[in-house]
Amino acid sequence: MLKITNLKKYFGGVKAVDGCDFEVKKNTITALIGPNGSGKSTVFNLVSGILKADKGSIYFTKTLGFASKHKNTKTQKHSAEKQEFVEITNLPPEKISNLGISRLFQQSRLFNNLTVKDNLLLAIGNEDMKFFRSVFKPISTGDKNKKIKEMLKAVELEKIANKLTRDLSYGQKRLLEIIRAILNPHSFLMLDEPAAGVNPALRKKIAEILLKLKSRGETVLLIEHDMNFTLSIADKVVVMEKGRVIAQGSPDEIRNNPEVLEAYLGE
Ligand code: ADP
Ligand code: MG
Repeated sequence: MLKITNLKKYFGGVKAVDGCDFEVKKNTITALIGPNGSGKSTVFNLVSGILKADKGSIYFTKTLGFASKHKNTKTQKHSAEKQEFVEITNLPPEKISNLGISRLFQQSRLFNNLTVKDNLLLAIGNEDMKFFRSVFKPISTGDKNKKIKEMLKAVELEKIANKLTRDLSYGQKRLLEIIRAILNPHSFLMLDEPAAGVNPALRKKIAEILLKLKSRGETVLLIEHDMNFTLSIADKVVVMEKGRVIAQGSPDEIRNNPEVLEAYLGE
């Protein structure tokens, strides 16, 4: 679904991402882990087009209904996988979002003066493909409200739909942002530390949401600092240190990898 090759991003002398390679397979939960400052969020910013790469390439699998609208993007066939990848390196963020990549930021980006429901309505309504979609398949306000209600119910937040966002607890805000990323039309979900700073009960709920998404066929790339959280839900773990991938494999392989343990101990 996503393929990153020799990706580099330097900030002056800081080699934030320094030759990063990894792949995310469709319908998996892949976790990107590593000590603070190892370049994880920078990789997300490069994939979503917020930062421009100095070197390297990012490819994304074309998905029906998204990529077909972008005929000008460079395509590349990787015969081994029989998947068609489109190169998305350094495309503008809106284009990347319209290709079907939705993300959760490490720092909150909610509108605090809006209600919970209105924050979610914005997520459904703000893609710039909205016009095209509305021509072919109009989404009525009724449908949107129904979808939002369902989502809030699924995470037991339906009672606070009309509350102002600024009055929510930190954990509730985080949950709201996760739902918002899910409601944003997408085929690939990137979550930067969804469970950081939230209590264990909510953390469990977030893990359940992610597993449910996978069972529905979704693909998730997740950054998470908490090893236990990550290793319990991920299919594949990619470990970064100093801008590079130092190990990748199944949670069991990562749990017992001496290099990974050392990278974390050194923190
Ligand atoms: P992680 O998410 O793994 O904690 P980051 O990707 O946020 O790491 O940061 C990697 C390195 O790049 C850090 O040393 C950080 O200070 C630096 N960095 C990240 N973003 C910027 C920026 N916009 N300007 C300058 N340095 C940055
Ligand atoms: Mg980060």
